[in-house]
Amino acid sequence: MDEWLASEETGEAFSLCVCCRLPLVEIDEPWLVNKEFVGEECVMEYAICQPCRERVMEPMDEASKQAVRTFLEAQIDWEARVKEFMLDADATGRFHHCVSCRAPRSGLMGYGISALFDSGGSLVEGALPLMMCSPCVGKMTAALTPQGRMIWGRFLERYLDGPATGTGGLL
Ligand SMILES: [Zn+2]
Ligand SMILES: [Zn+2]
Repeated sequence: MDEWLASEETGEAFSLCVCCRLPLVEIDEPWLVNKEFVGEECVMEYAICQPCRERVMEPMDEASKQAVRTFLEAQIDWEARVKEFMLDADATGRFHHCVSCRAPRSGLMGYGISALFDSGGSLVEGALPLMMCSPCVGKMTAALTPQGRMIWGRFLERYLDGPATGTGGLL
């Protein structure tokens, strides 16, 4: 799991927030790690602290926020997933199939993984960590309003040398 969630760039755990550039362990807030893969290659990765994530999402219109919530509720069988998660001795099992459509990772062209860390840097095992295939990520992004897509695109462009289609941070 440490390897999955490490920065491919440094080979170590993420240490800075992509937005405020502060050391994650010093912020005293949870943070999210997102990585997007095309085939075997990681094409985008970042960690974002909770306050920055809220700042990014805040201007997004209510319809977009609702669309993401609706997607996550309607397109993911949480009851089944939570049962599986609990049976898994190792949380990396969550990365074997898309959390939504259940497609196996080995057959995917692209996918994203997301994980939540608490303020002390321990992995939180709840709804996250999870893996979502690119087509499902695309469906979720498509549900955003044009305004929501613009805000999300601006974030990716500004901090991640977009354009990228990453959506993990929307979770
Ligand atoms: Zn931050
Ligand atoms: Zn999927």
